[in-house]
Amino acid sequence: MAKQPVTRFAPSPTGEMHLGHAFAAMVANHIGGGYILRIDDIDHTRCKYGFVTGILDDLRWLQLPWRGAPVFQSYRLGSYKDALSRLQALDLVYPCYLTRKELDAVLSAPHGSPAPVATDSMLPAPEKARRASQGRAAAWRLRSTAALDWAGPVSWFDARNGRDVAVDMTAHGDVVIARRDIGTSYHLSVVVDDAIDGVTHVTRGEDLADSTHVHRLLQVLLDLPSPVYFHHALVATKSGKRLAKRDKAASLASLREAGQTLNNIVANLPQLPSLKLL
Ligand code: GLU
Repeated sequence: MAKQPVTRFAPSPTGEMHLGHAFAAMVANHIGGGYILRIDDIDHTRCKYGFVTGILDDLRWLQLPWRGAPVFQSYRLGSYKDALSRLQALDLVYPCYLTRKELDAVLSAPHGSPAPVATDSMLPAPEKARRASQGRAAAWRLRSTAALDWAGPVSWFDARNGRDVAVDMTAHGDVVIARRDIGTSYHLSVVVDDAIDGVTHVTRGEDLADSTHVHRLLQVLLDLPSPVYFHHALVATKSGKRLAKRDKAASLASLREAGQTLNNIVANLPQLPSLKLL
């Protein structure tokens, strides 16, 4: 490993942190020799600021001090808007005026597999124009095929398995890049943030590995640097189930209250990855 990697831990304040978050923060800290704390709070429909205090308390208790001041995505809406404008100027995104109900009907079509959605030609042009003129907000979707053509061959480096992975958008279809209600999306915000923060190594759970295809493609379209990706194992319950925020018993706050010590907690987490992988 040449230079010290720059990593981040990016929790969404939608619930209490549990062991899985503790492990994610530990991995970011381990690989980066410290980490940037970014609060992923773009989704005002789900985020609650009360949870931010809990996140800070938990990280202090875990003895994982973050570098500098925490970063909040909600302060960066202008940067996400600029990124969307660039994609619009490239004509690689299109507005989608479908209602939730219309989309559900598409998704549950008997012949279609669940995900890939391309909605550009689903509404006749006059109907799109009518909805737009009524002031209806649109979601913006990526023209995935055109975007891949524009980008040329593109891949991301999977540090855990030591290999390049070719970007494949099949499972994503024309993924939403800006939601109608918040004007951005997880995907767009994350790539803009990682670039602003100079993140060189994105460490996060393996459940997010699929999203990396979208992120890498967006980085090429937006002319942003490409970090290395390390998708770590997820912490499971004793019965092998993945932890969720609704599993109250596993929240760090309740474990602390039940008298668990930091050592107990760390002893029950998976091993930290070898730095030789980077
Ligand atoms: N905010 C996301 C989460 O809490 C993580 C985003 C990321 O690491 O890319 O799952």
